[in-house]
Amino acid sequence: MNGIRGKYFENWARTYWCRPALYFEPESQQEIKEILKLANENKKVVKVAGIGHSPSSIACTNDYMVSLIKMDHLLEIDAEKLKVKVEGGMRVDKLNDILYDNNMALSVLGSISDQTIAGAICVGYHGTGTQFPILNFYVTEIELMLASGEIRTYADSSDDFKAVLCSLGCLGIILSVTIQCEPAFKLDQTEFPAKLEDVLSSLDAYTSSANHFRMLWYPHTDHVLCYAASRTDKPLNPRKFSWFKDRLVGFYLLEFLFYIATFFTFLIPYINLVYFKVFSDRKQYVDRSYNVFNFDCLFKQHAFECTIPLKETAHYLLKLKTWLEDNPSVRVHFGVEIRFSKKDDIWISPCYEQDSCWLNILMFKPYGKEYTREKWWRKNEELMIECNGRPHWAKTHNMRKSDLVKLYPKFEQFDALRKKLDPNEIFINDCLRQIFSN
Ligand SMILES: Cc1cc2nc3c(=O)[nH]c(=O)nc-3n(C[C@H](O)[C@H](O)[C@H](O)COP(=O)(O)OP(=O)(O)OC[C@H]3O[C@@H](n4cnc5c(N)ncnc54)[C@H](O)[C@@H]3O)c2cc1C
Repeated sequence: MNGIRGKYFENWARTYWCRPALYFEPESQQEIKEILKLANENKKVVKVAGIGHSPSSIACTNDYMVSLIKMDHLLEIDAEKLKVKVEGGMRVDKLNDILYDNNMALSVLGSISDQTIAGAICVGYHGTGTQFPILNFYVTEIELMLASGEIRTYADSSDDFKAVLCSLGCLGIILSVTIQCEPAFKLDQTEFPAKLEDVLSSLDAYTSSANHFRMLWYPHTDHVLCYAASRTDKPLNPRKFSWFKDRLVGFYLLEFLFYIATFFTFLIPYINLVYFKVFSDRKQYVDRSYNVFNFDCLFKQHAFECTIPLKETAHYLLKLKTWLEDNPSVRVHFGVEIRFSKKDDIWISPCYEQDSCWLNILMFKPYGKEYTREKWWRKNEELMIECNGRPHWAKTHNMRKSDLVKLYPKFEQFDALRKKLDPNEIFINDCLRQIFSN
């Protein structure tokens, strides 16, 4: 199996990049085995890159990079048991289409479906809904190639299955994933404006008003835009797309305004407010599940995301809002995305044994220009720690093993398993080394 030299890899947000010594696109398990053999002989790190949608450097390496882009096939589909088995390199959008054609669907999805199924599973891909765990929870079997080249199948009854279910890519190479689906469904979504304090004071009522509730807070204002989606039998009535409003105003003009605001930062609170006013009219539409779960994410951005215990949601957000009011020199882009997931029992899932609220903080890079975000990031990290929060594994954070063992009762056990399955640490890059060192 020959590798390509000189490949340049960067993540979607163009915040991290690398030049692997060799880049491989294997087409079979035998070829992956040969790459691992070569890596073991030459003492090289091997990272599988999905499609590089992680905002952190979790997929980067200067040693050997593997893409499973050619290993993206459907392996089995059982329309009766509603189960599907696919190769790890399959993109989630391709899987959505295959499932739809077979009258099936994934129960929950996040904002996009561009990523590979293995990449999504590795980092704990989530959507929203207090009764819906992260996507990993629905996985019933994973086929893993270990550093030694041995292939192991982990399923519900296997020891360590709950470790393999969210593995950060450091236990082995995911060859295939089997997922429990549900019958294809439509979602009826309503978008409506509200006041942050009002939603927080009746959070239970809002989150239980729909299967999938999320909201976007516009910092420097007390406004939120709520999205409430539930399964429905109503006829299709998709959201109307307006090139002028959604693309010209919502993207091109906004990027230009945020660029101008890198010179005149006092403009940012006004931009946030105006965009809330322009886009907060009430809307209601019905579409296929994945068309409603997903939306256009066009802006290159830095992202910080964590889970906190659900009951801490109001505490975190009200403290953050007050801090922003007390620090008028800190000006930040909208929006803060607030989502929810049901607790699970996956060893290092950010929702391990904890009904959770996800807080996604972003800072755009208009035309690639960096805008200062240090204080805003630091405050969010401080609040995450105060609330016993856990970072999203795909996003940048400063946590190390000494922090993580306090948050994850099974972190030591996970690390011990990692050392057993990958004794020469060929799956560990700098990003993961930070997580597993004190
Ligand atoms: C615009 C945008 C929106 C997003 N929205 C959400 C969201 O709503 N919810 C959410 O949870 N996340 C979200 N993310 C984060 C994103 O979903 C994850 O980072 C993502 O799932 C990564 O998938 P990937 O295929 O790009 O993998 P990569 O980022 O390339 O890799 C991620 C990790 O998986 C490992 N890996 C990949 N494939 C394999 C394999 N076959 N075997 C072993 N290890 C492997 C890599 O080595 C790396 O450690 C978003 C990201 C972007 C850019």
